Amino acid sequence: MKKLAFFETKPYDRAYFDKLNKNYEITYFEEKLNHHTAKITEGFDAVCAFVNSNVNEMAINRMYERGVKILALRSAGFSNVDLNAALGKIPVVRVPAYSPHAVAEHALALLMALNRKIYRAYIRTRDFNFNIAGLTGVDLYGKTVGVIGTGKIGRIFINICNGLGMKVLAYDPYPDNSIDAEYTDLDYLLSNSDVISLHCPLTSDTYHIIGTDAFAKIKKGAIIINTSRGALIDSEALLYALNHGNIRGAALDVYEEEADFFYEDMSDKIITDDTLALLVSRPNVLITSHQGFLTEEALENIADVTLKNLDEFFEGKPLTNEVKAAKK
Ligand code: NAD
Repeated sequence: MKKLAFFETKPYDRAYFDKLNKNYEITYFEEKLNHHTAKITEGFDAVCAFVNSNVNEMAINRMYERGVKILALRSAGFSNVDLNAALGKIPVVRVPAYSPHAVAEHALALLMALNRKIYRAYIRTRDFNFNIAGLTGVDLYGKTVGVIGTGKIGRIFINICNGLGMKVLAYDPYPDNSIDAEYTDLDYLLSNSDVISLHCPLTSDTYHIIGTDAFAKIKKGAIIINTSRGALIDSEALLYALNHGNIRGAALDVYEEEADFFYEDMSDKIITDDTLALLVSRPNVLITSHQGFLTEEALENIADVTLKNLDEFFEGKPLTNEVKAAKK
């Protein structure tokens, strides 16, 4: 049996991999994969990692030197892997779409909860405080939503927003005319949207796409939703916009420095990231811990596709879901 080192394990990952696995001897590690933990991959044929692993050049080289033959990501995004370093050494496969509905529906949940302050109402009523002052939201019906990135998740989110009776603006360098939205340039979208939702990947082009310049253009009172990647938003610029009342609020499933915090119970620790601590403290910020993917359907698909990706490799078949650097 081929040996698989499985990093960033949580009980919910394990349940689905144990259910579907037939071909691999899996060793589960709670640690993230990085250049330190890559040292323990000696003797493993394959390595599996998730979104908060940092698979830099040193991590790739250490795995390669130890005989690891393939890296299987359990995520769609791969911005945490140095693909240039992997080229010619370790093929990298991913799960391109495990449930775009899971993430689009989580974006909707965040939007609804933030707008109607459900998270604050829940805390109040748990304490038998039935006062509703300060919980006023807006009708989403008739408002304009701007969707940045109209791929698999973005287009489902657009359909949901159309269902709510919202007007949909969209920005994507590769527009798809079959989508029921009005494509505009980014500046127009920013200055005309009441809600802005990010559904593009993190690349050098999209890093801090919502930064100081963008916040200067964003319509006053807009709501920002980010379920894609944290570094799409400049967190300091977001804090500034919140502090100055420029936006109505923000709901974030991702944060640019999330790797040290998300998925861990930090409740009895000092949060050393002041920006995160300040964001959490704001009444008009709602943060979830990168859980957009967390549905039963998505977890089962992640396990199924990851194991199939590994089977393809070890059976010498072409890799359906390989991600490669364009060139070295
Ligand atoms: P996708 O590849 O299907 O779509 C991405 C879209 O973004 C494409 O249409 C692409 O043309 C567009 N795009 C690229 N560069 C852009 C730019 N500069 N400006 C605007 N649009 C741009 O990806 P997807 O499956 O829809 O996933 C979107 C993102 O969601 C992923 O990259 C990932 O970061 C994130 N994601 C988050 C979770 C979660 O749990 N929160 C889970 C899965 C995916």
